[in-house]
Amino acid sequence: MIYKRSSQLFTEAQKVIPGGVNSPVRAFKAVGGEPVFVERAEGAYLYDEDGNKLIDYINSWGPLILGHAHKPVLDAIINKAKKGTSFGTPTEIETKIAELAVKMVPNIDKIRMVNSGTEACMSAVRLARGFTGKEKIIKFAGCYHGHSDSFLIQAGSGAVTFGTPNSPGVTQGTAKDTLLARYNDLENVKELVEANKDEIACIIIEPVAGNMGCIPPAEGFLEGLREICDETGILLVFDEVMTGFRLAPGGVQERAGVNADIICFGKVIGGGLPVGAFAARNEIMDYLAPIGPVYQAGTLSGNPLAMAAGLAMLTELDSKREIFKSIDKKTEYLHKGMEKVLLKNNIDFTINREGSMISVHFGKEPVRDFDSAARSANLGIFNKFFHGMLENGIYIAPSAYETWFISDALSYEDLDKTIEATDKVTQEF
Ligand SMILES: *Cc1c(COP(=O)(O)O)cnc(C)c1O
Repeated sequence: MIYKRSSQLFTEAQKVIPGGVNSPVRAFKAVGGEPVFVERAEGAYLYDEDGNKLIDYINSWGPLILGHAHKPVLDAIINKAKKGTSFGTPTEIETKIAELAVKMVPNIDKIRMVNSGTEACMSAVRLARGFTGKEKIIKFAGCYHGHSDSFLIQAGSGAVTFGTPNSPGVTQGTAKDTLLARYNDLENVKELVEANKDEIACIIIEPVAGNMGCIPPAEGFLEGLREICDETGILLVFDEVMTGFRLAPGGVQERAGVNADIICFGKVIGGGLPVGAFAARNEIMDYLAPIGPVYQAGTLSGNPLAMAAGLAMLTELDSKREIFKSIDKKTEYLHKGMEKVLLKNNIDFTINREGSMISVHFGKEPVRDFDSAARSANLGIFNKFFHGMLENGIYIAPSAYETWFISDALSYEDLDKTIEATDKVTQEF
């Protein structure tokens, strides 16, 4: 693989952009080496600045479930752009996409558009606090809800009562309102709820976790959270930024048959443009300004180009529901294929999968929460795997803690190439 122009571009970028990137994980810091600069992409493939063609398993970190430059989405953006790019007034297309989202997702009456998943989660928590009149939230170690202050909290060792910030700049004052729980551990959640009686506004969770590898909820876990919330008046917030419109037309609520009170969206809902959203039943959503007291706003929220891309994407997914089965099958095929070659090559591994989310962990123990994900991260081996795959034209996320995002643009031939590369690379371990 040629790595010349990307390298030069990275050198230039670092002079004027912190770390050369506008979002940290892109910098390849965890795996070493220098990032690939992409020139264009189409379908399942990225073409970088050195002319390398890569099979893409990141798909812009989730949004491009139908692959790059998907024609109906592109056409919608281009046609919309010709009419002007932003007005700061209501437009019809905002209602259209809201109607479609409300139709596809269970248990929501209204939806508000924002510009990122971060904004969606941040706003959802403000709404939960305003609605309940309570201040604390419970989040799970290893779950990512964007980079707003309340969420940048990690577990200390031992029993955690108060969160400690894991980024300088997050104040202790903010951190103390975020309680940390262990994923897939209902008892732990019950203890936190008991110890902070009548102070908790919401429990926010990735209902299938995707930011510590892919970790599906254990049997009964989501149902148990629903019960706790029903008994205590705590709101259950599903952060479906990654899972929404990916794991089913109605996301994990539909797939698992568990209803949340507020649902956050991002990624797929924007079709590759910057969009986030949060949604709930009327009684909760009507707490938002301008009809309710909870303030939330955005100069570019509901931007016509972003709405056109999102509407085209959701329309594709809604009208061709076989897509969901198709990507799930492709992901299962990849899972089985990689499993076979990793076993053959005597590698310690665990593969987690739910629908079209999949992650490979280089350790034997089951990965069911952040601690087990961390123990299986095995950075030395992962880094070798990552660079080996890249060298063979396979672009996976440059971090042992990321899910692979399967797109329906991947062909079985692409999957076979990926399985062959896995075989070739891990033979040398
Ligand atoms: C990506 C992601 C976010 C943050 O979305 P941004 O658009 O990057 O701000 C929040 N929650 C989950 C579950 C995500 O995967």
